Amino acid sequence: MNPEPGICTVNTCDVPTQEYLCHHCTQELQEAWDQIPPLIPVLEDISRGHDVAFYQPTAEGRGSTTGSRPPMNLNAYQLALNLRQALIYTPAEYATHSDGWRAHTQILEWVHHADLMVNGEPEDAESKANIARYKLRDIQPMPVKQLIPWLKDKAGIELTRKQIQRWHERGFIRRHNTTGHPTYHPKEILQAHAQRQNI
Ligand SMILES: [Zn+2]
Repeated sequence: MNPEPGICTVNTCDVPTQEYLCHHCTQELQEAWDQIPPLIPVLEDISRGHDVAFYQPTAEGRGSTTGSRPPMNLNAYQLALNLRQALIYTPAEYATHSDGWRAHTQILEWVHHADLMVNGEPEDAESKANIARYKLRDIQPMPVKQLIPWLKDKAGIELTRKQIQRWHERGFIRRHNTTGHPTYHPKEILQAHAQRQNI
């Protein structure tokens, strides 16, 4: 794969190397690779529906050309599988593979997408909260059954009943009634969602 032995195989790099990845690219791969172990269990939770992806594409989001959003086929399940596979070799081992550039490109991309899915972009959370805020004045607390479709419809946020329950147990949101089905205020849910990185 390396037409010119002794040069880093990464497309944008032409640093001389005894292997197929130069020291700099191996180090870059190492930094991405080190982020993989903590990302996998969260992605698996998201794919099983136990947790919610920070970034949920909305109808308007589809076809967006911002370029920083994960493509639809890179769902949480597939990403977790890819990242598990990526851990089979260490960055130092990838550097000895003749197609080391491929691992370098793919792993950096997967980690970037996984990080977006798990942690989101700060401005993303903020803009979602802003969109919702101006409509929130007249909104009353509502039962979960009503809340879940409301959040999906108004804020493009998909939460599960279980997750709302967990946020309540952890004190991130308050229950607004004392009898019957519990009701929660969408505003508090949105605030908890926006701060999800810290939860
Ligand atoms: Zn390089």
